[in-house]
Amino acid sequence: MICDFMPVSLVDYPGCVAATVFVAGCNFRCPYCHNSSIIGGTGSLLHDSPGGYEPGEIIDCLADRKKLIDGICITGGEPTLWQGLKDFAAAIKAEGFKVKLDTNGSRPEVLREILEQGLVDYVAMDVKAPVYMYSLFAPDEEDILNVQKSVDIIMLHGDFGGKIDYEFRTTVHEKILGLHDIEEIGRWLSGAKRYVLQGYKYSPGVLDEDFCGTKPCDVTFLKKASAVISKHFKEVLIRS
Ligand code: SF4
Repeated sequence: MICDFMPVSLVDYPGCVAATVFVAGCNFRCPYCHNSSIIGGTGSLLHDSPGGYEPGEIIDCLADRKKLIDGICITGGEPTLWQGLKDFAAAIKAEGFKVKLDTNGSRPEVLREILEQGLVDYVAMDVKAPVYMYSLFAPDEEDILNVQKSVDIIMLHGDFGGKIDYEFRTTVHEKILGLHDIEEIGRWLSGAKRYVLQGYKYSPGVLDEDFCGTKPCDVTFLKKASAVISKHFKEVLIRS
């Protein structure tokens, strides 16, 4: 279910003026999640709830904004859990917009299908932590295996197929990830085109506010992390 819609964003789609669509429900429980109000109790509950926007309403609104926006960012929650994702992405493409998908990578079969069908131009996949720490974020062990499959699928389509642009990105909270953990992520994703370190920033409604606190991630730490892993990637960016 589409639960929210932002008509213009300058930050959600690199290089594009975009509209952002929020899909409700998520199967992960990241302590620093900013969208805790839309992730739901079980991930599927919110998808079945009434309310929100019909995809057609969003498409109509976008069709009126063709001169203003270049692309649409589909984010969440976790959009790949939504049954309507493929049809929605296809409808957006048919209107001539570029599509960016934000994902936690837990549904590789959905990702593969939409990439093979050319329904997405840019994928931003969260890599939460090294594999040995993933259970902090993903309650279901199978999802951890799925994340590893999604990394391979994205690199295959992005680097060898060359048809999509992509980034892997990690939200860095110093209580959760140390430099050695970030180094391990670097080894895992080695060879990827673009890796983004996003410093934790507090906002009201963070899922585990007591644990995460209000202090933003130290930029010096992000720079150290970037230096440690830069050899693994063509490009490392810091978003603080
Ligand atoms: S994967 Fe994203 S939406 Fe889901 S809990 Fe984590 S930060 Fe929130």
